[in-house]
Formats: sequence, C-alpha cells, structure tokens
Amino acid sequence: MSGCRNMKKKIQNALDNPNLQGALGRFADSYVDARARAYKGKDFEALRSQIADKKGSAAKRMEELAQQFKKNAEARGAKVYIAKTADDAKNYIRDLALANNVKQVIKSKSMASEEIYLNHFLEENGITAAESDLGEWIIQLAGESPSHMVMPAIHLTRAEVAEIFSKEVNERLSDDIPKLVKVARSELREKFLSADMGISGANIAVAETGTIIILTNEGNARLTTTLPPIHVALVGMEKLVEKFSDAGPIMECLPRSATAQQLTSYVTMITGPTPTALPDGTVQPKELHIVLMDNGRTKMKDDEIFNEALQCIRCASCLNVCPIYQLLGGHVFGSVYTGGIGTVLTAFFNNFEDAGELQNLCISCERCKEVCPGKVNIPKLILELRNRVVAKNGLPAGQKFLLNSLLPNRKLFHSMLKVASKAQKPFVKDKMVRHLPMFLAGLTEGRSLPALADKPFREQLNELGTVNSPKYKVGFFGGCLIDFVYPNLGRSVNKILKNMNMQLVYPLEQACCGVPASHMGAREAAANLAKQNIAAFEKAGVDYIVTACPTCTAALKHDYVSLLQEDKQWAKRAREFADKVEDFSNFVATQTDGGKTLALKSKDTTTVTYHDSCHLRRHLGIFEEPRQLIRAAGLDLKEMAWSDRCCGFGGSYTLRFPELSQPILQQKLANIKDSGAEIVAMDCPGCLMQIGGGLDKANSKQRAKHTVELLAERLND
Ligand code: SF4
Ligand code: SF4
Repeated sequence: MSGCRNMKKKIQNALDNPNLQGALGRFADSYVDARARAYKGKDFEALRSQIADKKGSAAKRMEELAQQFKKNAEARGAKVYIAKTADDAKNYIRDLALANNVKQVIKSKSMASEEIYLNHFLEENGITAAESDLGEWIIQLAGESPSHMVMPAIHLTRAEVAEIFSKEVNERLSDDIPKLVKVARSELREKFLSADMGISGANIAVAETGTIIILTNEGNARLTTTLPPIHVALVGMEKLVEKFSDAGPIMECLPRSATAQQLTSYVTMITGPTPTALPDGTVQPKELHIVLMDNGRTKMKDDEIFNEALQCIRCASCLNVCPIYQLLGGHVFGSVYTGGIGTVLTAFFNNFEDAGELQNLCISCERCKEVCPGKVNIPKLILELRNRVVAKNGLPAGQKFLLNSLLPNRKLFHSMLKVASKAQKPFVKDKMVRHLPMFLAGLTEGRSLPALADKPFREQLNELGTVNSPKYKVGFFGGCLIDFVYPNLGRSVNKILKNMNMQLVYPLEQACCGVPASHMGAREAAANLAKQNIAAFEKAGVDYIVTACPTCTAALKHDYVSLLQEDKQWAKRAREFADKVEDFSNFVATQTDGGKTLALKSKDTTTVTYHDSCHLRRHLGIFEEPRQLIRAAGLDLKEMAWSDRCCGFGGSYTLRFPELSQPILQQKLANIKDSGAEIVAMDCPGCLMQIGGGLDKANSKQRAKHTVELLAERLND
C-alpha cells in the first residue's frame, strides 16, 4: 500500500474511534484553562526566552558539554558513556546487563528508550524489562507504543484500561480508578523488588555538576533509581545545559506546560551513585551509568534551521493544543514522537522518509508556536521539511504546471477561470455552489462553495472612482480569492479608503502571493512570484501596500524577506516592500484611531461574533484591531468560545484532508451557533469561504462576513 493510502487508512481508523475522540477532546478543552491557571503570576514570555536562550546555546556546544558532564559526573563516581548511535546505546546497556547477570529490569519513563526500542532489544537478549510509569505500563501491557510524550496512554478510556488490567491479573476488574491504581501498585511493587537493574531517562543533565534531574508524578522514578543495585540513565544529548541555574526556567515551565501543575510531585536530582539499602538492612554499593545518546542530535545541531528543535523540553504542550492531534491522537504519526514536533524529531532520530509523509498532516495554524516553552517554531520547521522533500523528490507534473506556468501568468490564469466560471453555471444558485457531480462531490461535502465571480475585481477598477488630493496612494494586493471570488471585498476596501481620503491603486501585474507554492515546498516558484509582486508595486509608486487577506499579508511582509535574503539584487527591495505592507484592519484601525475618525452610521443592534484567523492572530499578532473596528461601527460584539481555534480551511488542506478539515469546521460552526450572534465576522477570505460555506450548507440564519464588508456597510454614503 502506498504511504499516502496507508496514512489515509490510519486517519480513518482514528476518526472512527469514538473513545479516542472523546478522551482527546475532553482533555484538550480542559488543558487550555488549566495551563493558564498554572502560569498565573508567571511571565511566560520571559521564561521561554530564557529557556530558548540557554538550551539554544547549550545545543551549539553539545559535544563540549557532554565531555564536561562526563568529567564532572565521573568525578562523583558515575560512569558516563557517550553513545553515537542507537545501537551503541543499546549494546552498552545489554553488555552491562549481561556482565552483571541481570535478568529483570525495572524502567521509569524514558522517551529516549522508546526512541531506540530498548525494551524489545532487551527481550531479544533474554532480559525482561517492565515499565513502572502507570501510563507506560498500560501501553506495554496493551502491546502499543506511546501516543503522547507525557501521557502515553491518553488515548485509552478507563474501561479499556480495566480490560487490559483484567487480562494481566486474570480477574474481572471494574473501571474504578482507585481500584485499578491499587492493582498496578501491587503488581509493580513485586517488579521493583526483584529487579537487578533500573533504567530511567532524565529531563535535564547539568554539565557543570554532572547532575541529572528527573521530574515525575508517581514516585516510580525514585524507586527505579534507588532500589536496584545498578541504575542506568539513558539521556538524549539535547537534555544538557551548561549551568545548574539553567535548569530553573525549565523546571518552572515543564510541569506547567505538560500537565498544568505548578510543580511535579517528585523532583529527583542525582549527582553520582548513592549506596543501596537492601530490605535485610545491609547496604550495597551502587553503580550509576549515564548513557548520553546522540542518535541524530549532533546532526540536528549542525543544521542551521533545524537546530531550533533542540530547544524542546518535551512538555507536549504543542500536542495538547494541536487541532490535528486532537482529532487523531498519536498513533497516526507512526513514530514514538508524535504531533508536529514529533514529525521534526522523527526526521532526525528515526527516518526522514516517514517524516516527509507526516509533515502533510500539519494545517499550519501555529497554535503550537504560541504555547511552546522552548520557542520552537514548529510550523516553520515543518515547512522546511516540506522544502527538503520537494528538493529531493521534485513536484508532481500538475503542481509544476500550476506553479511555474499558471500562477505567475495572470492572463492565462484569468482565462482559465473564465472557462471555469462558465462551466460552474449549472451548479450555481444565489452565488453558491451546493452540489458538484461525480468525483468533485467531495468538495461540497459539509460546506457550499462560493461561485467564481462573473467579473473579477481587476475588471472593475474603472468603476471605483478617484479621490481628489488623496492623503496617501494605497496599493491594494487583492490575492486570488478577492480578485476572482470575492471582488465585493475589494470594492469595500475602496469605499473605506475613500472615506479615509486615500486612493486605492491596483497594479494589474500583481500575481498570487506565493503561499500555495511555499506550502507545496516549491521555494523557487514562491521567490519568483515574490519578485513579480515587488516589481509591480514598486512601479506603482505607492505609500502603503494593504491586503485584506492575512495569509497574503504574512507572505508579503515576512516570507518575501526571508525568501530573497540571499539574493543580492532583491534582498533590499524585499525589505523596503515589506516595510510598506499592512493588513487592512490594522491599517484602518491605526489610521483612524480605532475607527473613531471614520464617518460611520449611528449605533445598530446587530450582534456580531468574531473569528480570529490563524495567520492574523498568531503570525501577525493582530486580534484587537478588528474588534475595535466592529465596536466603532456601532455593532454589538459577542465573543464566541474558542474564537482563536482554526476553522479547518488551511488552503489546499481542505482538499487534501477533507476528513480532518470537516470536523474542525463543524466544531467552529457549533461555537458560532452557541454565541447567538447574527453575524460572524473575520478578516480572511479563506476562512470566509470555509465558514460561510459551512453556514450555508447547514441552512443557518447566521451569516459570515469579512470585517471590511461589515465596516463598508456601516459607512455613511
Ligand atoms: S516543541 Fe515546545 S511545546 Fe512541543 S514538546 Fe517541545 S517544548 Fe513542548
Ligand atoms: S501548526 Fe497547528 S496543525 Fe501544525 S503542528 Fe502546530 S498546532 Fe498542529
């Protein structure tokens, strides 16, 4: 089965599992508030800057710090082995176990050991390994891999856990949690007492003291590291920090971000071995072995883009807020590291090909970036993975034609859309397409589509009028959706600019913003589109450049600068162009004191709720300005729940993964419905297409409008 079909099958299996949906949905909803409470009184931005700084600089000196750690830990009696590969790490632990006649190992939670499939390897060598973390033990009994970095069995309900435990103890157990914990405790206690070796991970390794720090909630790591005569700590080299004080911000953020706790129940710091007190009262010397594992980490460190991922502290906060993880859980990712960050780690620690397939799952909503205590820009790294996959494998022929021939050539693009606009006629009613035939039917499942405009915005320019002695000449970047689907939004922009005594200028040479090309991993095609747009607006000689699409704004303002930074001829031009670019809501709010100087009609009773588009809120940091304008327009703003959650559009995502896009949209529609507002406003034409289409399909009385449309309607004529 091809990788793509295999993934589709796994997605469907996950979506068909009601237990999974229930468990993940409940957790995701409660996590956000609990995390916010845990961080109350803390300066998250300052803490995460410290973590990014300390972990980032430690990563750059990884090999040097490993040697420093070895020297200091060995001075305190530990033995430190630096393992280059997964095999080196496994062989060291096996040889140590065999040399000491170890038959039984007890383990506390360690993602590094999952990464190298250590349990399986030990079993092959005649050594039994028992997990002692409750979640890890459950999935070990179930024969599964962890679905979450912190809560490995989050995908299982308590009834399923009861079933698994019942099989283990050969007794029918109820799903009463205290009873199940009691069973686990009595089963595991035996294993602790009979183990010849304890294997743990570590959350932090301090080079200046040779200390490992382990944060847990169950106390099992204390028993694992103290009871058996030999303790092996398997530690990824990214856990190294230089100084003891560098551990502070990590210890403040890890429990808050991972499980919304201010502190974990147990914080264990180990500097050298401590003799073991045996049950008979005798004291036996302790061996402490620390395996510092590379397995792709120094390769990641040497990569100037991906080294940012080494700032990760494995809190899994990014999974907890990810809309795709919330639908699918972790097993779809097929690796021990799951979600967006898991995709990146998989590329370096396991298999680049697998990661190349997995990166498609990300909808680029950027929620993970907002909460990451390591300041890891996961969507940026996922995009880079995509670039590298395309650089290696090339693009399919259809995508090549689209990017290299169609999108840069507005005339050709325009004529093709004219043909499509005629072909759609039999399916259009009230400017919406509600059903499409045959293989296109999926496109209108769960939402209607807006019809292509009879007359694109670029053909309406001579109807817009001019402004005498304008304050500014404002270049308008329409983007594909406004130009060809929603030209009324362009007219609204013109009406508002006129009210502000500004002249709209629309250079006809402008092309697609390049985001579809970037998202396909076609960096060169995106750079060519960037040059075409920069040249078009330079020629127009405008004071500002505005767009009413935040995805286009983000591309024009940020992506062009990075796309062209190595190009001597274009880098400066890209920066000067970017300096003029503003998202339209932000531009209007700034120029009119939050809408106060616009000539607006008097107060209205219409109720409006607002949907934050991912790119506007998280990429551009704009969320208050459109709300200011809605209030200034005299409308009654009623906030919906989860206004900043993705609507499931994600550009071509909605076509590639309709089965994921749809449930996300349905949740958004439910939140809009519950707000009770008559209108849902937003600033992104893509969200408008998704949410407006969803409301239409559901026969809702609520209407979706772009903020510019709403504002233009409220202007005095
Ligand atoms: S990427 Fe950030 S949010 Fe995700 S696990 Fe790592 S530190 Fe936590
Ligand atoms: S950008 Fe959104 S979809 Fe992608 S990994 Fe982050 S949270 Fe998940």
